[in-house]
Amino acid sequence: MNDMAYNPYKMAQRQFDDAAELLDLDQATRDFLRVPMREYQFTIPVRMDDGSIKIFRGFRVQHNDARGPSKGGIRFHPQETIDTVRALSMWMTWKCAVVDIPLGGGKGGVCCDPHDLSLLEQERLCRGWVRALAKNIGPLTDVPAPDVMTNSQHMLWMLDEYEAIRGAKYPGFITGKPVGMGGSLGRVEATGYGVMITVREAMKELGIDLQNTTASFQGFGNVSQYAIELYQQMGGNPVCVSCWNQGEQKSYSFVKKDGFELKTLLSITDQFGEIDKNRVQELGFEVLEGSAWLEQEVDLLVPAALENQITGENVRSISKRVKIIAEGANGPTTPEADVVLKERGVLVIPDFLANAGGVTCSYFEQVQSNQNYYWAKEETLGKLDLKMTNAYLAVSEFGNKNKLYLRDAAYMISVDRVANACRARGWV
Ligand code: NAD
Repeated sequence: MNDMAYNPYKMAQRQFDDAAELLDLDQATRDFLRVPMREYQFTIPVRMDDGSIKIFRGFRVQHNDARGPSKGGIRFHPQETIDTVRALSMWMTWKCAVVDIPLGGGKGGVCCDPHDLSLLEQERLCRGWVRALAKNIGPLTDVPAPDVMTNSQHMLWMLDEYEAIRGAKYPGFITGKPVGMGGSLGRVEATGYGVMITVREAMKELGIDLQNTTASFQGFGNVSQYAIELYQQMGGNPVCVSCWNQGEQKSYSFVKKDGFELKTLLSITDQFGEIDKNRVQELGFEVLEGSAWLEQEVDLLVPAALENQITGENVRSISKRVKIIAEGANGPTTPEADVVLKERGVLVIPDFLANAGGVTCSYFEQVQSNQNYYWAKEETLGKLDLKMTNAYLAVSEFGNKNKLYLRDAAYMISVDRVANACRARGWV
């Protein structure tokens, strides 16, 4: 995060307040929805490999479960804070509502850097997180999933701990599990593919031929890698990716104007989505500052790393050529930057719509796990395409009809659905 004063929770609340205003929501519903229903903050003691004990800080926030069990990832990050988790849990509520799946919003995290932990230490940390929360989460109440720096192995350790505590098998307790161990085919692709499905629909609407476009991506992790895969399959030309360099504690952008082979780039990338800076130069990429991804002369920008990346300070460095920004990450654009992008007429596909493919496929995984019956990959990805396309078209139709910025249109649809569920239950 590049601004210590930035608070994602305040930003999420500000976005919600704007939507509440547009919807003319009553005061009780506003007061209820602008804060989480439940929050858990706890310590996790972990025995380290050298025999010492280290205390980690863990979080789980359940923003709203009016439409179904809370759903949301667990992030391992050294700068994790309760406010980040609150914001992300709120965005999960709107995300599940915008794609119309019967789930609420939750999010979890641990303040840690897995780069500094052995696999055994990571396993103990995962099991500790579940032990702290086993009474408060579960397949019928709150279903976790992976997020930044957590993966299918972490999910399996967590499932194993939960099942050991409960004394039975609960494959629907968590999603993002390895395929063959309760995971869904298509889950690794789902978020990145989902981003590109919304881009495909947006380009159709704007009359842009995707095959003649270029794109720049921030981040080269799960979301970005699969977004690039589908973008290339559809004929698009990615020319820039950026990532974090752990050794130097700064980010870099790598540019290759005539495009690149995704497989080759993947072969020099580690499990955290860090591209080897020396080897990428040998492949003919130009190595630029971390911020350069935003300044590229491209048609499409895909922020797919962290929140607070397109801000009031840097939004004007975006090229006039950029027509679409598809938010793969959660909360990459601040409200100040939104004002400028709105004026410029850039089509911003908001995070909770653009990256909803992940939770949609997680929902499919949960359905399959609960039934103990697993679908073919084509079936899952076909269902994903249908959900994402319908969600994008519903939001854009509502936005066009009411002359709304796409983020406002998506917020109005989602908040209205959640508010209606709360009212129908007699909560507000
Ligand atoms: P990941 O950990 O797999 O990859 C993150 C990538 O971002 C890495 O390449 C890393 O090097 C890069 N990065 C980190 N800090 C950076 C910086 N300052 N500048 C440039 N690059 C930086 O994470 P992911 O799963 O791909 O998630 C990325 C974003 O998408 C997050 O905001 C996450 O919340 C969101 N998201 C993920 C999913 C999912 O299913 N994975 C679903 C919805 C939303």
